[in-house]
Amino acid sequence: MSPLQAGEPQATAELARLFAEGPAAVLTGAGISTDSGIPDYRGAGTPPRTPMSIAQFMDNEAYRRRFWAGARIGFLRSSGVAPNAGHLALARLEAAGRIGGVITQNVDDLHRRSGSRTVVELHGNGRVIRCLRCGARWSRADVLGWFDDLNPGFAERNAHAEIAPDGDARVSGTERVVVPSCPGRGAPCGGLLRPDVVYFGETVPPAVFSAAETLVRDASALLLVGTSLAVNTGMRLLHRAERRGIPIAVINRGPTAVDRRDSVAVRIEGGTSETLSALASALDVRV
Ligand SMILES: [Zn+2]
Repeated sequence: MSPLQAGEPQATAELARLFAEGPAAVLTGAGISTDSGIPDYRGAGTPPRTPMSIAQFMDNEAYRRRFWAGARIGFLRSSGVAPNAGHLALARLEAAGRIGGVITQNVDDLHRRSGSRTVVELHGNGRVIRCLRCGARWSRADVLGWFDDLNPGFAERNAHAEIAPDGDARVSGTERVVVPSCPGRGAPCGGLLRPDVVYFGETVPPAVFSAAETLVRDASALLLVGTSLAVNTGMRLLHRAERRGIPIAVINRGPTAVDRRDSVAVRIEGGTSETLSALASALDVRV
């Protein structure tokens, strides 16, 4: 099956047809956030990058110094990042009862910020930081405030460092950086803090996967949006949909791992913002 191009009337019409039987479920990946200025490091034209190793993070203080220094600068630059038309279209489609919810591989919080209510974050949320000793959860902004208190002048000196694709930054001279630890709630803690994100080599918590499965189970179609399906969890959800025999649509810039599967009823090549906005208006949902 050769893909339809985003923006083609036939592409929108075929996609809209999948909603005739009831609400759909949506699985999103990095491709939906590229229009918000967050690069997709699996996509074309971006330099290859090694995903963060959680083992190194836990075992190595120097690695944690580099991590928090990079996070500090990345956060300065990403403060202007906002949901795009694709996120907004999904939020409106949910409010109109056309989709049951969004399952996302992204950790950028943009679905919630755009107004989506039911969001299953398979890989966690990068704005949440959790303590490994007492389990307290803090916002990234809180922890970076503590970073500034411990490292006065650091953010100003490094404000122009190069930004890496996931909002991190390449910062040098981090040997003297002091890493913030958990202040504790009530009683002092001092525990190691980490992002509440599922890193490479870690597994999606069973309760989270089961929430995603429920959305797929209750859906009459599954839309795969801005993902090449390189992640195993996405594949497992696709298999659930195939077992139920519901139609699958793939909207992505560039090839995906599932393009040739019989279960894919609609394959649209191109941008997600454009395609989802057109879908919303075809379904009479105002964006
Ligand atoms: Zn703690």
